[in-house]
Amino acid sequence: MSRFFSDKYMDLTPYTPGEQPREQKNIVKLNTNENPYPPLPEVAKAAAEASGRLYLYSDTECTELRKALAKRLDVSTDELLMTNGSDEILNFAFMAFCDKHIPAVFADITYGFYPVFAAINQVPYEEIPLKEDLTIDVADYFQRAGTIFIANPNAPTAIALRAREIEEVLKHNPYNVVVVDEAYVDFGAESCVPLIRKYDNLLVTQTFSKSRSMAGARLGMGIGNPDLIRDLNTVKFSTNPYNVNSLTSAAGVASLKHDEYNRENCLKIMETRERYERILRGMGFEMTESQTNFFFARHPAISGKDLYLELKKRGVLIRHFDIERIKDYNRITIGTPEQMDRLLKETEAILEERK
Ligand code: PMP
Repeated sequence: MSRFFSDKYMDLTPYTPGEQPREQKNIVKLNTNENPYPPLPEVAKAAAEASGRLYLYSDTECTELRKALAKRLDVSTDELLMTNGSDEILNFAFMAFCDKHIPAVFADITYGFYPVFAAINQVPYEEIPLKEDLTIDVADYFQRAGTIFIANPNAPTAIALRAREIEEVLKHNPYNVVVVDEAYVDFGAESCVPLIRKYDNLLVTQTFSKSRSMAGARLGMGIGNPDLIRDLNTVKFSTNPYNVNSLTSAAGVASLKHDEYNRENCLKIMETRERYERILRGMGFEMTESQTNFFFARHPAISGKDLYLELKKRGVLIRHFDIERIKDYNRITIGTPEQMDRLLKETEAILEERK
């Protein structure tokens, strides 16, 4: 730390992203929940075409993109705001809807960025423990004094709530904003987007990173009542009006033009999930019921950390969290069947050695 770093950040522990090895050859990367299928060539082509206009600032309104997305989600353009990944819309929500009198409320085991957003915005927060089986009891979120953040499906547990359960949280919190982080919703869970007209306190966040294979482009969005979106725009225009660059915007439009391809990839990943869940359970793994593109699994014969380290030695990256309550588990992204076969092969060898 330099001697110039502001006191207000003294206690800040930044978010730790998963490893991104530079050399990808022979590495099976199942640690950051990326989509294993690259976007269509049309997406890169659209970005390349947009590069001819790089000397101009990007469109602050993401006009074309919002139009296409509004159609896709069956909402209107003033119910949508585009951001630099969904991390940015989440940070905007902490900035816009929390302060020292309005704490953030979220689960004890959830997306690790929430406490970091709270800290950097100097917002107090309350963590609500998941139940013993790592599910959320929605009644724990009724009548809270603060802005509620629920990742649905939750990460890293992979477990989803039904939309009607989240609706109960909305009904019981008419004076609080409820943010539903749907980063993984396209892998089989129910979206709360159809509820935005009914509940003016609902903000849904989604991303192009997972189901649309565009993690590197950084494209996310907020979907909600036009008044909420206006507040978030005030924050955006007070930080970075050009938050979505023109290459990403063009890529996003192209991706939506071919959204059927993205949908098919999600279905492929869901099929892979069903197949490998059976195999992993057969090998003795215990896991939650995943409605995402990852597993949350533990094995009685090896600690979470050891499995992570042993697999890493063998070129397979998965994610381990050094958090007491979930230290036995690992989060394993669902890759291609070939990648999953390699995971199985290396895991079998590791388990065999321990017999
Ligand atoms: N929410 C959850 C639950 C996530 O796991 C992630 C991915 N790390 C995000 C939001 C943010 O994703 P992105 O910024 O790539 O849209």
